[in-house]
Amino acid sequence: MSERRPYLNARMAPFTSTIFAEMSALAVRTGAINLGQGFPDTDGPQLILDAASEAIHGGANQYPPGPGIPALRVAVAEHQKRFYSLDLDPDTEILITAGATEAIAATILALCEPGDEVVTFEPYYDSYAASIALAGAERRTVRLRPRPAGATWERDDAADGRAVGFQFDPDELAAAFSDRTRLVLLNTPHNPTGKVFSRDELELIARLATEHDAVVVTDEVYEHLTFDGRPHIPMATLPGMADRTVTISSAGKTFSVTGWKIGWLHGPAELVAAARAVKQFLTYVSGGPLQPAVAAALGLDDAFYTTLAADLQRKRDLLSAGLRAAGFDVFATSGTYFVITDAAPLGFDDGIELCQRLPELIGVAAVPVSVFCDDKDSTRSLVRFAYCKRDEVLREAVDRLSGLSVR
Ligand code: PMP
Ligand code: GLN
Repeated sequence: MSERRPYLNARMAPFTSTIFAEMSALAVRTGAINLGQGFPDTDGPQLILDAASEAIHGGANQYPPGPGIPALRVAVAEHQKRFYSLDLDPDTEILITAGATEAIAATILALCEPGDEVVTFEPYYDSYAASIALAGAERRTVRLRPRPAGATWERDDAADGRAVGFQFDPDELAAAFSDRTRLVLLNTPHNPTGKVFSRDELELIARLATEHDAVVVTDEVYEHLTFDGRPHIPMATLPGMADRTVTISSAGKTFSVTGWKIGWLHGPAELVAAARAVKQFLTYVSGGPLQPAVAAALGLDDAFYTTLAADLQRKRDLLSAGLRAAGFDVFATSGTYFVITDAAPLGFDDGIELCQRLPELIGVAAVPVSVFCDDKDSTRSLVRFAYCKRDEVLREAVDRLSGLSVR
């Protein structure tokens, strides 16, 4: 008897479960503190919660317009003007989506033909690989390498014994481009490394994208979560780049409502129209009563945005210090919810195995970095922890982690 053909198509076969779902389920099963999947354990601002419940009780419960409600598109335009001096037409240059995830998928599916290449950095956020595969396109990844202070590309011990930051090799980036490059898929601030791309780095990416006539799709969901005074620089603000850039963000991280899945994309009208053509057949629309609430929240005063980043910076410092004290090698993170560590100094060479055992061993869940990479060997012992949790939860996690002694 011949084997039945698998139900799942070959393009999606490598993507049957996500590491976030796996590790969150393990955390729930074991009662561990979940520093794996990145979501805050407190609610966002009262204003957004009240506005959503008012909208539900006020009857905003039917389909919103396909591109998103006008008030939210106007609020996104005002936000981009206020923070980045970008001028957008809310009618033609902005599209509201079901989270950044749908914006990413719709853009890639809209712009890529099978065989096109997408240049992206690794480690990469997991939905990138799946969306590229769905489109029949191919990913060309460029490695972000841990880089100690004062060193060049390769990792070695920094003067003070601590590793810091992640960087890419410009030559490797240039070599990833070809005449089949259709898109560059950028993420800054970057999950999982916490890297905030510098202006010089963005300029290099912009120059290569322009030379190869590629569109830049930039995922900026952590735009307001940067630390140490480091600015987030949107790719669309670089000279000439607004014409070839699709900028993506969402309400999830900025307003601590990751379950709402209200996102958006903006760019030149022709690119937005292309993404809209696909988006309308993925979800058509979503989150009717949540859209006016996000519109209201985007207008929150500067104090809200600066407090958000300052609080998270404190949490980063708390967890990073605890991880270092527990014996991990800790890489610097300048943004996002995440810090990457190396578990090798503790005698753990396999991050996947460690993350599978960590909840049982000490009651903390984390995610292995190698699952975000094509080159799994180079990141084998690296583990990502999320610090977007209440201080007392982080303190308890640090306490538990201190029990993970060198074997
Ligand atoms: N991009 C990155 C880099 C992320 O970390 C996430 C995680 N939430 C997303 C996109 C997805 O955003 P959303 O929940 O708005 O779909
Ligand atoms: N962005 C979150 C993270 O990196 C997870 C989102 C998800 O579960 N897909 O942890």
